[in-house]
Amino acid sequence: MTRTAIITGSTSGIGLGIAEAFAAQGFNIMLNGFGDANEIEATRADLDAKSAGTVAYHGADMTKPDQIADLVATTEAQFGAVDILVNNAGIQHVAPVEEFPLDKWDAIIAINMSSAFHTIRAALPGMKERGFGRIINVASAHGLVASPYKSAYVTAKHGIVGLTKTVALEAAQHGVTVNAVCPGYVLTPLVEGQIPDTAKARGITEEEVKRDVLLAAQPTKEFVTVEQLGAVCTFLSSEAAASVTGIAMPVDGGWVAQ
Ligand code: NAD
Repeated sequence: MTRTAIITGSTSGIGLGIAEAFAAQGFNIMLNGFGDANEIEATRADLDAKSAGTVAYHGADMTKPDQIADLVATTEAQFGAVDILVNNAGIQHVAPVEEFPLDKWDAIIAINMSSAFHTIRAALPGMKERGFGRIINVASAHGLVASPYKSAYVTAKHGIVGLTKTVALEAAQHGVTVNAVCPGYVLTPLVEGQIPDTAKARGITEEEVKRDVLLAAQPTKEFVTVEQLGAVCTFLSSEAAASVTGIAMPVDGGWVAQ
């Protein structure tokens, strides 16, 4: 049986890496995320060619509950089920709490946290009915520990860890597991975008930002890779992971061990 996965925010970075891992295992995939329409179509076609399953795209905006409900309904209509739900879409904004822009706070809470409530609310009934489901919430090391100037992001990521545990308990007797993955720093557009500003603000080079700022808290001194995160997600989606539920799994080079 071909399983079907929705991966939110999969037009870039970690979500795209997770989509690559699922494509390699022959899943049907519903991609989601923003970007240039031609580039998204090229990504979809490339993944579709790599997967034994079918790869489609839905452009739901993760700040819009009605569009999120349509993402889940469209996937169920096209593929007959949503077996795996990866809540990955996310944005970042860095500012002291007393200067934090209100619109950025609302957007981060909506995209990084509330969107997972909306996708889960829509997808869980079908999973329970079929007696199988895998929900994976891409949280962050910032779901477990804080850093200054990231109040909205740290709040949203701690929130999604709480949501993970709660839904894991509610779904436990229905063959549905719910887990959070907590990456350390991954060199994606989201992180690369922070490097020039940080270099300017601190008067150091971009290489120094990577080594002394971003990787300062990461004992391995290596960025986590999207391939590593893809492999974690395919494991959590497997039959072998049926007893793994309610966890917040650090994949962070030792960051939160300190
Ligand atoms: P990215 O910027 O490369 O990708 C983010 C994805 O989310 C893109 O596909 C984008 O189009 C999509 N997106 C943004 N706003 C959206 C919206 N309103 N509706 C639908 N899609 C939207 O970022 P990334 O680094 O790959 O981050 C992915 C996830 O991983 C985020 O939740 C992020 O918090 C988390 N994370 C990233 C890192 C890191 O170091 N990069 C570390 C820990 C956790």
